[in-house]
This record gives sequence, structure tokens and C-alpha cells, in this order.
Amino acid sequence: MSDIIKLLPDHIANQIAAGEVIQRPSSVVKEMVENAIDAGATKIDVVIKDAGKTLIQIVDNGKGMSPFDARMCFERHATSKVSKAEDLFTLTTKGFRGEALASVAAIAHVTLKTKLQEDELGSLVQIEGSKITKQEPIVNPTGTSFEVKNLFYNVPARRNFLKSDGIEFRHILDDFERIALAHPEVALTIRHNDTEIYNLPSCVLKKRVVDILGKSSNEKLVPIDESTDIVELKGFVGKPEFAKKKRGEQFLFVNDRYFKDSFFNHAITQAFDGLIPPKTFPSYFLYLTVNPQKIDVNVHPTKTEIKFEEDRLIYAIILSSIRQALGKYNIAPTLDFNRETSFDLPHTMNTQMPVQPKIIVNENYNPFNTTTSYSKPSTSSGFTKAIRAEGFGNSEINQQDWANFYSIKEETPNVEPQELDLEIEEVETKDFIIRGNYVFTPCKSGIMVIHHRRAQERIVYDRMMSAFIINPIQSQKLLFPYEKEVSAGEKSEWISNSTLLNRLGFETEFIEGNMLVNAVPSIIPEESINDCLDNILSTLSFRDIDKGDIAHLLIGSIAKSSSMKKKVNMTKEACELLVSELFQCSEHSFTPSGKKIIETVTMDEIAQKF
Ligand code: ADP
Ligand code: MG
Repeated sequence: MSDIIKLLPDHIANQIAAGEVIQRPSSVVKEMVENAIDAGATKIDVVIKDAGKTLIQIVDNGKGMSPFDARMCFERHATSKVSKAEDLFTLTTKGFRGEALASVAAIAHVTLKTKLQEDELGSLVQIEGSKITKQEPIVNPTGTSFEVKNLFYNVPARRNFLKSDGIEFRHILDDFERIALAHPEVALTIRHNDTEIYNLPSCVLKKRVVDILGKSSNEKLVPIDESTDIVELKGFVGKPEFAKKKRGEQFLFVNDRYFKDSFFNHAITQAFDGLIPPKTFPSYFLYLTVNPQKIDVNVHPTKTEIKFEEDRLIYAIILSSIRQALGKYNIAPTLDFNRETSFDLPHTMNTQMPVQPKIIVNENYNPFNTTTSYSKPSTSSGFTKAIRAEGFGNSEINQQDWANFYSIKEETPNVEPQELDLEIEEVETKDFIIRGNYVFTPCKSGIMVIHHRRAQERIVYDRMMSAFIINPIQSQKLLFPYEKEVSAGEKSEWISNSTLLNRLGFETEFIEGNMLVNAVPSIIPEESINDCLDNILSTLSFRDIDKGDIAHLLIGSIAKSSSMKKKVNMTKEACELLVSELFQCSEHSFTPSGKKIIETVTMDEIAQKF
């Protein structure tokens, strides 16, 4: 038999490659807008017709191309961004494979117009199915414009596979928004069928986020800003109360490149653990800057997956930074450490300038070096502890080490710390009014209202969460076993989680269709036992809960039942203790199931009522 192996002709090889790089119109938009950014453009205009099926036009004011490059750029593996293998490890450009333009040219009718700043005339190149059909000098402003028509004209299978215009245009907008969020310094516009969809001026990051999310997002954002030698972290997370029912506003960028990462997404979700109701998703816009040598962007042809050398450390840094930021935001509006009531200060301090507490970040601290000794913060006033505990509540990962990472030091020159603490204590003990479910107490901005049952629930939850990781929860034997009828399904769910339930303080046995409860967590009042069991059984019966979530859901149920006492004796002392304990919790504004605990009625709001 004669030889049968041949090299594929270029236009067929390009068509095959195109299948990988250009999946739909949005891929063309993404590749070309990224090229424009790589070319240093400060303004990019995108025009789309029929969701890109008829026309995609990208005009930029970047550096442009020479007549030779205008032809070369359509060759496969033609790139100006990588010339030697080592370049791959120091990339700062979006593209580097030299595949995008060759792929687009293989499956569409493309017109390129471009001019370098220093040239008098520019070039026009037309190419269809990898064949150049025209090249001539033209008059063109500095920069580049690509017109892509009849995408997939020669790949009918692909063309038929495209979804409705609505869906395809949504894909285009997704890619456009990701690039716009990564580059607030670049002005961008996009039009679809003669309607302007976005007109984004060059601006700072926060404005760009707000321009894309809508004006009302302005007050929903909590800033994140953290710098370590492994990663620099910037951006915003949405406040917990604005968590969404759908995953959507979740954006991760590394070195200005959008990427997806379920591991880091998990870190962020963990940081919101207990702050948002189950099955809701926090919004985030997180920008990581890492040394390009420590990541590999070469994993995926469209490069939305990225490998990180130090992913575990970055995970921990993301988790703790977001917790800390959320803690700061939660404490700031409700607590006030600088009340302007000078009579609250000790006599000796009246003439001194108050010194603000300082957060000292130990940059050399390595959270995974567990041999470092950890000195517990002194147990002085509740409020002081609250700031210390800020953001470091019940993390399952090495919470003591992380507490050390952001140790907080208060500078109090010329005053015995003891004395200052005592006075703060005095501020706290003042003025509680109790009515029904609520405790009212004045604060700087107005009046703080605390739902005391829910506060109790949060306190018990936090206490149990951290205790349970180290030791079993204290259990209380019942004088008479509590008998409860259970279904076969409930029985088997209970039995398969019995180790965890024992650890939480339950001792049970089964006699036929009945469960005999011999002991319960001592925190549960007798009258709530039945409720608590019902809650737990219904939690266990949820088919799709994550294994990792069971412990905190069960602890949530126990905490809730523990706060359901018939009679509550709220003395002033009890209030004081409650408030102080509440502010030591990792989160004090919401219960584990997302119910509001605190509301502040501001003086302005009160004034408006008169
Ligand atoms: P890559 O971006 O991976 O280098 P592309 O096929 O996307 O590969 O582009 C090939 C080359 O064409 C680029 O390296 C760049 O030199 C040039 N190029 C593409 N788009 C532009 C543009 N808008 N302005 C200037 N040069 C461009
Ligand atoms: Mg490119």
C-alpha cells in the first residue's frame, strides 16, 4: 500500500483550530477587544448586528499595524507577544497564542483597516476563508478596525448550532462586561442593531462596577484591599443582605484577566458563611495581582481557567480578607467608639486627644507556620474584644493563626489600659430599654434596636460552632427519655449522621418506629426539644445539602431552638451581657439563617418624623 499521510492544508487546519478558539460570536468579540487592549487602546467601540451573526465591528485607537503586519496577523501562530519560550512565564498581555485572527479569518469575511501613528497611509486587508482577497493602502486614523461578517459562513454545522439572538447577544455582553470590569481605564462602547447598550467612560474601578451593575449598587459594595507578598487583593464584595438567588455577579480577575475558579469561589462563599441564607450567592468583584511567573494561563484555549502555584495560601488570604472587610463594615455603622460625650471619659483624659485603635498587619506572618505561639487577646471589655474578633469568628481553618495575622493593638499613651477599659465598660452599661422582643440602646447615629431572641440565637451558634470543632458539645441527660415517632427515612438519615449528632450532644436509640432521646445539648430548654428535633429531621431530609454544610445547618437549628424560651428575664445586666457577647460574634447583624438582628434608626430618620 502506498503512503497515505499528508499535511493538512492551512485553511483546513485553521478551520479546525477555529472550532476551539471561536465557539460563537462572543468569542470573536472577546479576542478582538483583548487584542485592542494589548495594542494599548484607550477607546474601543464595538458594533454588533444580529447578535454578531451578520456583523461584528471593533474599532480601536491603539498602536495599529504596519502593512506587513496587517497581512501577517492572519497567519496561524503569528503573534507579536511571544518570541521565546521564557516569555510565556512573564506574560502581561491577554493574547499570546497567535491563533485568534487566523481562526476568525478561516470562518468569516474579514476586513481589517489599520495605521501606525508614524505612517502617513494605513492598510486595508480583506480575507475570506483564509484567502486574502484584497490589500491596498488607505487613509485611516491611527489604530485598527476589524469588520467580521457572515461568521461560520463555511461551517454550516456551527452556524446551525448557534442559539437565538437573545442568547448569543447575552454571551457577547458577558464577555464585554468582564473585559470592561478588568479595564476601567479604557473607554468602551457597545451598540446592538443601532441601539447603544453601554457607553462607559474611562474611570476608577468603583465607578466602572457601578456603571455596569447600575446606580443602586453603589451602597451595596464593601471594598476589599489587602496586600501580601503572595497576592495583592483589591475589589468589592456585595453586602450580605444583597446576596442573590442566582449566581451572576461573581467576577474574579488575575492580573486584569477574567477567570473562573471554583476553589477561590469556595473561599469567598466560606467568608459569607452564616451571613447569607442558604442557596443565595454573594456578589463579588475580586482583582488578584500575582507574579506572572506563579500562574499558568496556558491551561485552556480561551484561558478562563488558570493554575496558581500558591492556590492554598491565596485561598486563605481571600477568606480572611473578606471576613475582615465584612466585619469592619458590620461594626462601623452600628458601634461607635468615638461618641462625642466628653463626660463619658475619665477625668484625666478630658484634655487628651483620643487615639484611634490601629490595625497592625504583620506582613511576615505565615498562617501555615503553626509553631508560632499565639497570645490570646486580653479579655477586657466586650467592645474591645469585638474589634479583636472582627472577621475571625468561627473559621474552620486555623482561626487562631489568622487572628494573629491581623493582631490589633490599641495605643493609649499616659493612661493605664485598665482605666480606659473600665470607662468603656461604663459607656456600654448605660441606657437599655427593653420592650417585647427588642432592646433599644442609644448610639452615635441614633438608636440601635436589637432583636434579643435572634441575638441569642447568633451567640449560641457562634459559641457552638467554635466549641464543636475542638470538643463535643455539652450534653444533658433527660430524666425521662423523650419519645418521638419517626419515619423509616428519618431514622436512616439520623443513623447515618449519628456521629455528628452525638458530637452535638444527642444520645438516641431506636425502638421500632420510635426514637428515644436520652440526652440533648444542654443549651436546649426542655420546652424546645420537640421543635429542635423536628428542625433537625427536616434539615437531614434535604436531599441536596452539601456534606460540609450539615454541621452548620444542624448547629443553626440547635441555636434557634435554644433561643425559643417561653420566659425570658431581660434585666439590664442580661442586656449588657447579650450586647457584649453579640458584638464578639463573627457576624452580629444577621442570624445564621439570614434574619436581621440589629437595626439602627438614625437621628435623620427620627427628625423626618417631626
Ligand atoms: P495573539 O493576540 O495571541 O498574539 P492574535 O491572532 O489575536 O494573536 O493576533 C495576532 C497579532 O496581530 C497580535 O500579536 C498583534 O501583533 C496583532 N494585532 C491583532 N489585533 C490588533 C490590534 N487591534 N491592534 C494592533 N495589533 C493587533
Ligand atoms: Mg489575541
